[in-house]
Amino acid sequence: AQELMINSEKLTIAGQLAAGIAHEVRNPLTAIKGFFQMMEKDVMENKLYFDVIGSEINRIEVILNELLLLAKPQEAKFEFKNIEVILNHVLTLLESQTNLNNIQIIKNIEPSIPLIKCDENQLKQVFINFLKNSIEAMPRGGMIHIDVLQQSASSILIRIVDQGSGIPEHLLNRVGEPFFTTKEKGTGLGLMICKNIIEEHQGKIKIASSPSGTRIEIHFPTS
Ligand code: ADP
Ligand code: MG
Repeated sequence: AQELMINSEKLTIAGQLAAGIAHEVRNPLTAIKGFFQMMEKDVMENKLYFDVIGSEINRIEVILNELLLLAKPQEAKFEFKNIEVILNHVLTLLESQTNLNNIQIIKNIEPSIPLIKCDENQLKQVFINFLKNSIEAMPRGGMIHIDVLQQSASSILIRIVDQGSGIPEHLLNRVGEPFFTTKEKGTGLGLMICKNIIEEHQGKIKIASSPSGTRIEIHFPTS
């Protein structure tokens, strides 16, 4: 129990640090962005440089916003919730993206899955991050299977299986490292955030991947 306490204390310090960094960087960034937009109106001959600076500023902004989200664990509110309701809400949020990308989601939830004690918003964030990765891995569309199974008297298993390009074996142990991304516009923060949230819920994540798809397994305690 003592070790657990030390760990969660570390997390809080990391969270505070992240919030500090994000706030410190965001103010000057906002000023730069404002001046940049004003200057852009006159100086069209340097358009290429402006475009590069502009997209780099946007990238910093995206990263900071994700870090800020990460730095709010003190707002966590644990309540008993129905996993199906949470999943349905997430799928509604992602509907336009899945339609646009020709992706079909096949959901299979075993009957009488117990309520799980969780922070609803954090758990939604986890599903959004995993599903976005699956969508991004399937540029030509395909199916994503989501299964929720009762695994034992005290745990459930949430499985997300996609038909995407997969994660090369030599990179599998790097995903989830902060800022590790293989995408041009990625932040490499999605899986790290998922890992943190699941750990706070005393759950476990397993990732298996092959060139024909990726399988995410989230084990969740129900008591
Ligand atoms: P980002 O999506 O911003 O790159 P993530 O932390 O969400 O950051 O993911 C890190 C990396 O893990 C991705 O860049 C990608 O290479 C790999 N990855 C994660 N999920 C999948 C998936 N379902 N299919 C293929 N690759 C994935
Ligand atoms: Mg991602």
